[in-house]
Amino acid sequence: MATERILFIIPPYFNVDDYRADNRSSVLPPFTIPYGILSLHAYLADRCSVSPEIDILDLNLPLRQAVTEGDTDRILSRFDELVAERVRTFRPTLAGISALFNVSFRYLQDIARVIQAQLPSTLIVAGGGLPSAAFREVLELCPDIDAICKGEGEIPLRDLVDAGDKSVLLNEHPSWITREGVAAGKIPSHTFVQDLDDIPMLDYGTVDLDDYNARSIDKRYSDEKKREMAVHTSRGCPFLCVFCSNPALHGRQVRAMSVERVAAEVRRMKERWGLTVLLIEDDHFFFDKSRAKAVLRVLAQLQVRIEFPNGVAVYAIDEEIAELFSRAGVSTVALAVESGSDYVLNKIIKKPLKIGLVKDKVEMLRRHGVQSHVFIVLGLPGEMPEHRRQTLDLLLDVGFDWAHIFCAIPIFGSRLHEICVEQGYIRESNFLDHVNTKSVIRAPGVDPEQIEDTAYQMNLSVNFVHNYNLASGNYETAIKYFRNVAAKYPEHAFAHQALARAYGGVGEQDLAARATRRFEHIVASDPWWHEQAVRHGLLADYEAGRGVSNAL
Ligand code: SF4
Repeated sequence: MATERILFIIPPYFNVDDYRADNRSSVLPPFTIPYGILSLHAYLADRCSVSPEIDILDLNLPLRQAVTEGDTDRILSRFDELVAERVRTFRPTLAGISALFNVSFRYLQDIARVIQAQLPSTLIVAGGGLPSAAFREVLELCPDIDAICKGEGEIPLRDLVDAGDKSVLLNEHPSWITREGVAAGKIPSHTFVQDLDDIPMLDYGTVDLDDYNARSIDKRYSDEKKREMAVHTSRGCPFLCVFCSNPALHGRQVRAMSVERVAAEVRRMKERWGLTVLLIEDDHFFFDKSRAKAVLRVLAQLQVRIEFPNGVAVYAIDEEIAELFSRAGVSTVALAVESGSDYVLNKIIKKPLKIGLVKDKVEMLRRHGVQSHVFIVLGLPGEMPEHRRQTLDLLLDVGFDWAHIFCAIPIFGSRLHEICVEQGYIRESNFLDHVNTKSVIRAPGVDPEQIEDTAYQMNLSVNFVHNYNLASGNYETAIKYFRNVAAKYPEHAFAHQALARAYGGVGEQDLAARATRRFEHIVASDPWWHEQAVRHGLLADYEAGRGVSNAL
């Protein structure tokens, strides 16, 4: 049997157009190790009759470079060139386009078209959350994509690689769907690896880890040398939060690695690749609390710093978990709070969380030296202005170390997408705007322009004007967070103003004065920032010539 040559391509997962315009709310999303592809690679290498050759092209990397260099004008033709060049040099027999979210839709056909034009014999398939949930739309709008895999791809791809007649396999396999299958009314179904220990250990050396070394959310360590790596110790989630597509991709029954396997994998990451920061990216790490505790206990022996960047279930945290977090080296968790309204949580999102619990849990974590970030989502149908006010009240009352405030996206595969389609709530828009800084839902109580503004104002208020660490005198921590923002967004007036207050707090008067001048220059030269400063009451002291000390 001839060796299969598989080229995996990851389309951009953010909208390049946002970085062409002067859009202040556009932030580069975290760049995540292509964990799913590394898992496919490991499985195929071990389980196919003849181990395939693999290559990976992540188009987010050249896009990030173009954004960083302010040179995005030619980026779409650059993508075409990169794909064509890789196809010419690698000559794939099979191309797999892996896309998670709606925003990547725009790029799918362009990528497939270039592959088809360069090497027409290549079989082109797509997988991941987006094609898996939107298989009809993708097959209709992307004529150069031959088939789509439903859900996780380890077993379906192995079966495809090993198949004698691939077109027969694609038509007959329960997890593959083609245009013929759609026409015949076929509904593809999942074929999961039931025991995650069956997937061999991942070869993280397949990618350049330096390209994925900035996902960490704890900005106290931004200046330190580090090696970040991600692990998914389990897949699946029993809940059905309205905006989430994870259960549609990974199922509602959770499958997990054994504790021994987690320990062995992380030990190998440390020894072979110099891991210093472990990012645990499970859908629902606490699906089984006793297992979660056992994992934390073994990780405590490995002496790495740990973060949970994907959101942790608040209700699962108790004194023992907080203590285990501390022992295991967990410095920061992102708490999946989502809203300050019990009505929104229980009636709209359908999340088993009571708002009254949140503050105690955050304080519990803080007593054990663990920082809390928080995820908030605004603009769900049925959410009213008073619910958003409750959210702001919660954020100001609890005092999180940082708040990540997003606009709801009707992600393919989520219940929210189904609701929005049924009710006609998605305002005229293309998928490129389906990013978490933009609101594309118009529904009762939800005006998209207002939602975007509220999300941004909440961010300015909670993270800068009323920043918890600044208000609590934790100036060193505050300085690290604000410096991180100011470095990424040099024109962010509020970051400089907050930095001035933090430097003032530690007696660094020269640095405080410099940050103040920067703030004053921005608000004097940029009417938009001037307006924000007025809205948040930041100008009175400066205009009265009292400077930074009175702003504290
Ligand atoms: S948001 Fe988290 S808890 Fe809710 S369904 Fe998704 S993975 Fe599960």
